[in-house]
Amino acid sequence: MAGSPKITRIETFLAPPRWLFVRVETDDGVVGWGEPVVEGRAEPVRAAVAVLAEHLLGQDPARIEDHWQVMTKGGFYRGGPVLSSAVAGLDQALWDIKGKRCGLPVHQLLGGPVRDRVRAYAWVGGDEPAEIRDALAAQIEAGFTAVKMNGCGRMSPLATRAEVRACLRRAETAREVLGDERDFALDFHGRLSPSNARRLLPLLAEYAPLFAEEPVLPEQVEALPGLVGASGVPLALGERLYTRREFLAPLQAGVAVVQPDVSHAGGISELRRIAALAETYGAHLAPHCPLGPVALAASLQVAFTTPNFLIQEQSLGIHYHRGAELLDYVVDSAPFRFDRGALLRTDRPGLGVEVDEAAVRAADAAGGHTWRNPVWRYEDGAFAEW
Ligand SMILES: [Mg+2]
Repeated sequence: MAGSPKITRIETFLAPPRWLFVRVETDDGVVGWGEPVVEGRAEPVRAAVAVLAEHLLGQDPARIEDHWQVMTKGGFYRGGPVLSSAVAGLDQALWDIKGKRCGLPVHQLLGGPVRDRVRAYAWVGGDEPAEIRDALAAQIEAGFTAVKMNGCGRMSPLATRAEVRACLRRAETAREVLGDERDFALDFHGRLSPSNARRLLPLLAEYAPLFAEEPVLPEQVEALPGLVGASGVPLALGERLYTRREFLAPLQAGVAVVQPDVSHAGGISELRRIAALAETYGAHLAPHCPLGPVALAASLQVAFTTPNFLIQEQSLGIHYHRGAELLDYVVDSAPFRFDRGALLRTDRPGLGVEVDEAAVRAADAAGGHTWRNPVWRYEDGAFAEW
């Protein structure tokens, strides 16, 4: 189309602790940023972005939906975390460009704000009750009204009484320290077998966690109706689901909270659709986001305009990260300044974040990272879920 801008350059940058940034430039000098990454698989996502760039170069950046369709479906084979994360980061960058070109924040382009504050939770690391107690107190001191922590460590296929008690003690400690006005969520990382989950969830109910996340692996969809019925604890999942189609069965099973990641599940475009699908089931959106500033900014744009939004994950102080963190790659940290545990809406255009390009380029030039998650094993040597 004559007169419309063209995408002229697409670059990616690996940056510690475990992230990948994409920079998309147009022929009239507008730059958009995204985070196309799935933790521990940054290099294959980078390669996928390079292949998708073949389609985008020379194209009009404004045609976000058409690009999404082609990038997601145009290669015949589709789906999975690597491709959908590559699409996700590019989708974020295209929304950033559109917002900057219009002089509007992305949430205005998505229908306008429905809220001015986005409640977020902080991660609490540590495994022993004493460590948890100190970490919880620190997050209360920092103003957070909700935290999340791991629900358990490595768990035997059929849990011992000691393993069950250790999990309950964590929940009991959290409730004691937080009182009844604040929330804690438990992330099980799919470490519970369906049998363990059926045993544990009813026992956790008295501590009223905000939700229990990934009690079982996401592919064990057939276990979900039984687990929803096993206790009053709301179930959450979705960081390892990538399309609205994959969320349908969990929603039909009655999960309370969906947790798509804006950098894994097809970007802002697909996150919006997953949220709308969840809304029809009376379920709530709590986007997964242990990632960097662009992913968080993109997630916030959706949160500001999504009626059934519940709470936002964010990575400040997360125990997985060593050597770099959220604020290391932004020029101005103001959009990520917490106000009583919430992030505030701004009218900054695009995603509302200014990436420190020099810092991102320097991180990549220094070798980026090779982050991999730990591999856990049982005492007999067999693989265990991390
Ligand atoms: Mg999780």
